[in-house]
Amino acid sequence: MSKIKKITFEVKKYEFHKPFHVTGSISNYATNIEVVLETEDGAKGYGEASPSFRVNGEKVEALYALESSINELLVGMEVRNYRQIFDLMDKYFASPSIKAAVQYATLDAFSEEINVPVYQILGGARTEIEIDKTVSIDTVENMVRDAVEIYNAGHRVIKIKVGEDLKKDIEAVEEIAKLTSGAKYIVDANMGYTPKEAIEFAKVLYSKGIDLGLLEQPVKATDFEGLKFVRYNCPFPVGADESAKTKYDIMRLIKMEAVDFINIKLMKSGISDALAIVEMVKSAHLQLMIGCMGESSVGINQSVNFALGTGAFVYHDLDSALLLKEDTFRGKYISEPPVFKGI
Ligand SMILES: [Mg+2]
Repeated sequence: MSKIKKITFEVKKYEFHKPFHVTGSISNYATNIEVVLETEDGAKGYGEASPSFRVNGEKVEALYALESSINELLVGMEVRNYRQIFDLMDKYFASPSIKAAVQYATLDAFSEEINVPVYQILGGARTEIEIDKTVSIDTVENMVRDAVEIYNAGHRVIKIKVGEDLKKDIEAVEEIAKLTSGAKYIVDANMGYTPKEAIEFAKVLYSKGIDLGLLEQPVKATDFEGLKFVRYNCPFPVGADESAKTKYDIMRLIKMEAVDFINIKLMKSGISDALAIVEMVKSAHLQLMIGCMGESSVGINQSVNFALGTGAFVYHDLDSALLLKEDTFRGKYISEPPVFKGI
């Protein structure tokens, strides 16, 4: 039995290999908080928060200030009783990335204590997953070049960021499709379209014989009616990302029949809500993908172990660590893109 001795936060900044451009936002750096949870027996569990102001309204400074209150709450608790720790961390629902990092660090310390990998603690459903890689918004020429590079590196799931210019977006996807035959496409508008624009985008591509695996978050996060309208007027599966944060959002999306897919990100939901969302979405016979924010290998490790453990996901959009400059790979998984394997 091992009790929590202390929890330490450290701010870490990672530079993107190239600026990461999505609708309304260009990132040069990811600024994350690494969480180290130590037990009285000397086991260390690692977690990482990669906060998104755009999606969750989180700021690093505000999260960092939670270190002492989280210590007050959790020191002395047993990591093997992790559900108790999860329940307490659910109170930090307004700081979901730090909730995720502390919850994961708890599982990681427990994993060290009993010498069982986290993905097996979570169920051990799979031993490997296939990940996508993302083409961010750029000129059509550069987007095609990036997509071909991704395809030639062996990826057969390509994520394409759109949402700022409907006509250019259609051209980019069309040109990418010509040169990457056999690939599946996840097209993510990051809330950039109106419902009517999203339907036009999808119908034009469909009329050209292009098949999308998923159209992700075409409209504003709060426009659940718009999502539903797109879903019922679009030939491709429609997914929620920015609209789908907590398990309560997912309950509403399911009741409204607003989407075909839910994109779970641990940074939006923590481990606790993500576990609940997996079961809710499966019960509603909908489908799941798992995504990321700007996590390094320490943070992507969390999602890789979650995805391997639950085996719940059709698509694994877990490429952020591949997009960041990092001195040392620190994941507890084997990274052989496009495949990640459990250890
Ligand atoms: Mg997305």
